[in-house]
Amino acid sequence: MIRIAIDGPGGAGKSSVAKAVAKELGIIYVDTGALYRTIGLYMLNNNIDTKDAEAVSSSLSKFTLDVKFVDGKQTILLDNEDVGERIRTPEASMAASNVSAIKEVRDYLLDTQRNIARSNSVIMDGRDIGTVILPYAEVKIFLTASPEARAKRRYDELVAKGHDVTYETVYNEMVERDKNDSTRDIAPCVKADDAVLLDNSNLDFDGTVAAVLKIIKKKNKKTFYMKAHKILAPIIRFFQRIHASGLENIPSDGPVMFCSNHIAARDPILIAAALNRQITFIGKKELFKIPILGWLIKKLGAIPIDRAGNDVGAIKTSVNVLKTGGALAIFPQGHRYPGVDPSETTPKNGAALIAYRSKCDIIPVFIKTKNHKYHFLGKKEIVFGQPIPYASLGLNEGGSKEYQTATSKIFGEILALASPKEASLTDNGGDAN
Ligand code: C5P
Repeated sequence: MIRIAIDGPGGAGKSSVAKAVAKELGIIYVDTGALYRTIGLYMLNNNIDTKDAEAVSSSLSKFTLDVKFVDGKQTILLDNEDVGERIRTPEASMAASNVSAIKEVRDYLLDTQRNIARSNSVIMDGRDIGTVILPYAEVKIFLTASPEARAKRRYDELVAKGHDVTYETVYNEMVERDKNDSTRDIAPCVKADDAVLLDNSNLDFDGTVAAVLKIIKKKNKKTFYMKAHKILAPIIRFFQRIHASGLENIPSDGPVMFCSNHIAARDPILIAAALNRQITFIGKKELFKIPILGWLIKKLGAIPIDRAGNDVGAIKTSVNVLKTGGALAIFPQGHRYPGVDPSETTPKNGAALIAYRSKCDIIPVFIKTKNHKYHFLGKKEIVFGQPIPYASLGLNEGGSKEYQTATSKIFGEILALASPKEASLTDNGGDAN
């Protein structure tokens, strides 16, 4: 799946460019401006002042708004009726700009937009897609052009559709809308820090599409981790005799932290091979100094940690991985305990602290190794549990007491994944490799 966010001011050509890119890539184009326009249209039709936040908010429950995609084409139904071109008038544009500054309207449309992207590869255009709606989009582009160039394009577009407008009015309206959209308190139209800026004042339509496709291709390159994973994971799964269960519990993207018991040095490799998404591991900093291995784990994105002290930098980096939609794996026991019943070990608070700072859900993991003459060849069973929602961890203000409680909960859920008979199945004969 790929999610592409295109934000920028009106008239930059976002929608026509996004439509062409969607066609080229065979994905869905989602025009989010149309949603705001539809709400604006409802208000206009019902004589509700679009600047009156209270009146607008209280009427949101009075209509139904549905989005459908037929052959990739978006249709919006307002009270079961296709809004068609009625949302494209200058009045509807202004009404959309006004209602879009109302928090309740944005909240109302948030899930609608996210739900579309949850189950489809999309290119979504708007004002806050990269910053608010899809902060974990794989590609973010901020498409803009000078106000004059944008007003000219909008003017030509309206005239072609038969609207009786002057360039002057379109220009003035565009400048007013720009001001509205970029200075409002909530979800202003601004470039996300990680978005690529594309100014197409001097580019024609085809040139802009080509530039956007180039950015997508460049941004969407497979990471070294996923390239290595594609080749190595099946081999590791086969030779290490990995049997993974609960894989359906794992979100294919978005922030999540895996917390596992720790038996052997190979555990990170087992988890990485079992999962089909990039996982960031934390490793003691000494490992990074070992020739070849150090280079490799660095290239795979592992985070070095100084276990001697309170490594604030490593915690911060881990939090950032999650905040940017990545997956992190942590061993709460702190180090491996070969041959020891995990319930007799004491977990550390690091995972709870990182969860608190990043507000992520946690997936408990239990690794069991079956006995084998050659220990490292024993069957590896990896159980991925149901996600522990962040809200259930009781992390409200942080602090060691809360971390302690959250840690007990996390560790309890890890231990619960060991079936009673196999709870003592850390009996890998002291194999720590
Ligand atoms: O993109 P379009 O011109 O159709 O958007 C209409 C209006 O809807 C914009 O002026 C903007 O105020 C609002 N909008 C928004 N957030 C989006 C998309 C559009 O605030 N994601």
